[in-house]
Amino acid sequence: MIASRARLRYHRQIGKLIGYRLPEGAFHGATLEALISIPYDSFDRPTREQILAFIKAFLSCKCPDNPFCGCPERKFVREIIELRESGLDHTQIGQYLLEEYGIELYAADILSYLEESVHLLEAILDISLQFQIPLMQQRVEEHIQAIERGIPVETDL
Ligand SMILES: [Zn+2]
Repeated sequence: MIASRARLRYHRQIGKLIGYRLPEGAFHGATLEALISIPYDSFDRPTREQILAFIKAFLSCKCPDNPFCGCPERKFVREIIELRESGLDHTQIGQYLLEEYGIELYAADILSYLEESVHLLEAILDISLQFQIPLMQQRVEEHIQAIERGIPVETDL
């Protein structure tokens, strides 16, 4: 899972604030919980903006068990796919995640995740062909092309 490889640039600062060492992952439950409960005043402005952008993008769902509902991880992988489909390559996606949210993720991990996604979509494509579901087949093909070439898809899955 790609979300478990994501780390936060300001990870150590948060640990200092809450007074104990956080687990490494940006999407680890303890990290997510810390993010929504810490005071932001002590961070410099760019970091504060990254934390707020992270919360807005990944932690804004209304589930009763937020942030442990799985939405943050799902929104994160969706973001990666959307960035790719909007034309960014894996290196640019890594740069964007770092600048926007302070998320550190190796470009190589992003690349292998995108390749895995295409393989998964190809398996879904096989199923849609086998069971003759043309609309599904068409949409999956569009997303495969979009991820492989970085070209946006008109329809939405
Ligand atoms: Zn949720």
